Amino acid sequence: MERQFTKEIESLRLGEGETFHGEGILAVTKALLQSGVSYVGGYQGAPVSHLLDVMVQAREYMDELGVHVEACTSEASAAAMLGASINYPARGAVTWKSIVGTNVAADALSYLASAGVMGGTLIVLGEDYGEGGVVAQERSHAFALKSLMWLLDPRPNLATIAGMVEHGFALSEASSTPVMMELRIRACHVKGSFVAKKNLAPPVSTRHRLDGPPAEFVYDRLAHPPATFRQEKLKSEVRLPAARRYITEHRLNEVFAGSEKVGLVVQGGLYNSLIRALKLLGLADDFGGSRVPILSLNVVYPLVPEEIAAFAGDKAAILVLEEGQPEFIEQEVAAILRRGDVPARLHGKDCMHMAGEYSVESLVRGLSRFLARHAPHVDTSGGARWLSDLKGTRDEAARLLGGLPVRPPGFCVGCPERPVFSAMKLVAQDIGRPHVSMDVGCHAFASFEPFSQGNTLLGYGMSLASAAGVGPMSARRPVAVMGDGGFWHNGLLSGVASNLLNKGDGVLVVMKNGYASATGTQELISSPPDEARSEAAGQSAVHADRTIEDTLAGLGVKWLRTVNNYEVGEMAKVYREAMTTPEKGLKVIVAEGECQLERQRRLRPVVARNLSEGRRTLRVKYGVDEDTCTGDHSCIRLSGCPTLTVKDNPDPLRRDPVATVIEGCVGCGLCGENAHAAVLCPSFYRAEVVQNPNFLDRSLERIRSLLR
Ligand code: SF4
Ligand code: SF4
Repeated sequence: MERQFTKEIESLRLGEGETFHGEGILAVTKALLQSGVSYVGGYQGAPVSHLLDVMVQAREYMDELGVHVEACTSEASAAAMLGASINYPARGAVTWKSIVGTNVAADALSYLASAGVMGGTLIVLGEDYGEGGVVAQERSHAFALKSLMWLLDPRPNLATIAGMVEHGFALSEASSTPVMMELRIRACHVKGSFVAKKNLAPPVSTRHRLDGPPAEFVYDRLAHPPATFRQEKLKSEVRLPAARRYITEHRLNEVFAGSEKVGLVVQGGLYNSLIRALKLLGLADDFGGSRVPILSLNVVYPLVPEEIAAFAGDKAAILVLEEGQPEFIEQEVAAILRRGDVPARLHGKDCMHMAGEYSVESLVRGLSRFLARHAPHVDTSGGARWLSDLKGTRDEAARLLGGLPVRPPGFCVGCPERPVFSAMKLVAQDIGRPHVSMDVGCHAFASFEPFSQGNTLLGYGMSLASAAGVGPMSARRPVAVMGDGGFWHNGLLSGVASNLLNKGDGVLVVMKNGYASATGTQELISSPPDEARSEAAGQSAVHADRTIEDTLAGLGVKWLRTVNNYEVGEMAKVYREAMTTPEKGLKVIVAEGECQLERQRRLRPVVARNLSEGRRTLRVKYGVDEDTCTGDHSCIRLSGCPTLTVKDNPDPLRRDPVATVIEGCVGCGLCGENAHAAVLCPSFYRAEVVQNPNFLDRSLERIRSLLR
């Protein structure tokens, strides 16, 4: 991973009383160290990748403190790591993107929650729910409920977030239960500050090692029958009351008083949006003072019945603001009010929408509905005006722009995965379209135009496994596409081993780009070695590692080819062969081309240095001869590169816009390859841009200008 976190690592060293400035997720990282964490693990994924990335790069400092950091190969490995806290007084934290990561980790989490913990355990979840979400929209709350693990949802404020990390460990220890902390995308990236404490060297660590397992063998620490029957009772009879006691005694949930006789119960993570909505309604000020009382739940599970009843006791009605479905909190609040004979009317999803994010706009609408019913004296016309202005702005923009085109995400400029899909598209023109099962990763961008490939997406590393049912029923071989990240995460066992065991047929394309690119180019077991990367500068370095090929061969894959992605003609030839050969069994194409993002990160400083030192640099750029371009844009339909676009036709006698390559082309060569492989019009040219030209360059240029 070439991105450097030097500044962030420095902030981890801040001591007692110093001020930490930064993002929410880095506040979590610092708070872990302040809590005396012994070990940290996880699997990268937005929006929590930075936590692990920073800790991995801060390895030297972690060693100083005695903190073990592990970049796990999946969320399941990370969850299993927490087993260290079952028998030992060691605090552990792991992180991943939820809901997908929690699904993968579910097995180990169930066992951990059953056995219970001695050392505090904290699971930091990137709650990828809502408008910015990139995975299936489900809530981690369901996992908390089914396993009786506690779930924190801190108010997006750095001091609160850091405080909840420290309380999370203590709550876990007080109730012998793992604690999860969900952080929405906005909470991870919220900027702010808090007063730091000094980092605590953990009592059990790589510097203070354990003598051995506990002297007394305790069978009850295994999540195995008959111990599991007792553990199940302990969860509700001992651990739950202990957790509620801790939450009450330490006031983890916050009550913000207000003068109105109605109240709002909100997930802590939604608090900032709520305050903004109240302000637009004229009911809150810039400092968070609100006329409507608020109970902000920094702990969304378990709820403390006495707290809810006390808050609702003097209110005519309360509104539960809980994002997503189903309405877990609202149902629990309903039971608490009913059991406690609290007369306050209860509202929630009847005022708000069931699925999706609670944006400020939707909160203004929902609050207006609630207040109109239970506080009609409150003037909410300010909110109505804001909503109407917003609509007016949108309508005006639509009128002026005529409706904005859809802009789906796509591959980076020069991405090595794009040429593979160009080749697949070309071959499909001859042999017909196969069923393509996609996977999680950058290559999933091929499901958008111009490739529109991918019929299913069943999870990370699951593409080949998800083709198992389709294959035997299809006239044409199914194709599974998988990144190297997905291959190591799950694909090797769930897909390849299963296919070989069942003597399946089909084609697997493994994108060997060298990193878990979609999550920030984290290292894999098959990442190119450092020497290859420094030698290669801007060149692809992935050919220096053969771990994927060796593993596949060792497992028994007979038909195995490695192809340079950018050679579209060769890729099309090999892919066609895989699809049409009479040979049965799994056919694997390892599509080799280093992630362009990573290559450019390496190349840019080298070029900058060369330029500043006056050294000759050469940059390749592709272009389109506008006189030759026919304007049919078949090149664009085969590429999708954002720097290959259209412009007005300079010829007044021709109306179709011509193709053009704009600034930003990294000269990956795909344009030339596509033109050749697809026998496109000869309008593409390759140019070499020379900076700091030498004597030979200048002489050649002089000769050329004479001949022009
Ligand atoms: S991050 Fe790398 S692999 Fe992903 S789209 Fe960009 S260049 Fe391609
Ligand atoms: S050569 Fe073509 S595909 Fe490659 S970066 Fe340039 S415009 Fe994009």
